[in-house]
Amino acid sequence: MPAQWLIGNWKMNGSMDSNAALLTEIRQVSGSAKMAVAVPHPYLSQARDALSGSEVQVSAQNLSAFEKGAYTGEVSALMLCEFGVKLALVGHSERRHLFGESDEVVAAKTIAALNARLTPVVCVGETLTEREAGNAKEVVLRQLNAVIDGIGAERLSRCILAYEPVWAIGTGKTASPEQAQEVHGWLREIAVQSGAAGVSILYGGSVKANNAAEMFAQPDVNGGLIGGASLDANEFIAIYQALC
Ligand code: PGA
Repeated sequence: MPAQWLIGNWKMNGSMDSNAALLTEIRQVSGSAKMAVAVPHPYLSQARDALSGSEVQVSAQNLSAFEKGAYTGEVSALMLCEFGVKLALVGHSERRHLFGESDEVVAAKTIAALNARLTPVVCVGETLTEREAGNAKEVVLRQLNAVIDGIGAERLSRCILAYEPVWAIGTGKTASPEQAQEVHGWLREIAVQSGAAGVSILYGGSVKANNAAEMFAQPDVNGGLIGGASLDANEFIAIYQALC
């Protein structure tokens, strides 16, 4: 059985004060599902310290594809490990679309994470135009296969996958549970073919406490990657409870 995960993606939000309040609340959760929060790099040590002794893990939102050297502004996987980071998002649609990350770059970052023994949370998802053109399947499978080609099928089971339709991120438009399940089913099929049937596949895109339960009830939805709603402790904990 795939592990169930709830991962909060704070994006470029937070301050020392607001983080402290949020982390104090969420460190108290307990339940059958795993939880992590993906915080901006400057707050990694704050999150590690505030969550120490709790079940909640610290994730990065991004990492460099390179190990070290003359790469101004980059942060390596090994540096993240020094701050207690256990997971790293890779290929989030904001990275792909706002910062031009190609499938090849996403694959290289996934390799960098795995080599440092971080769990990559590999995000895939189609835009509205791609969906309306009937290309959703082709797009998400192309994105996933690029990663599998890079890491080798045998390492897919060490990843977490996240399906995030771009048109549902931060828009208030959620995919219907049936739409999500359809895509998760395609991803599961590839995972099975790669010998990674038990990989966790999370859904992300405008998940809130009031729509989480029906999403998590889908057979191939093993949890959520939560943006906006992860900044509100009560909302995030309510989503977690819907998962457990
Ligand atoms: P959202 O973001 O929950 O605010 O739609 C999800 C994400 O981008 O990870």
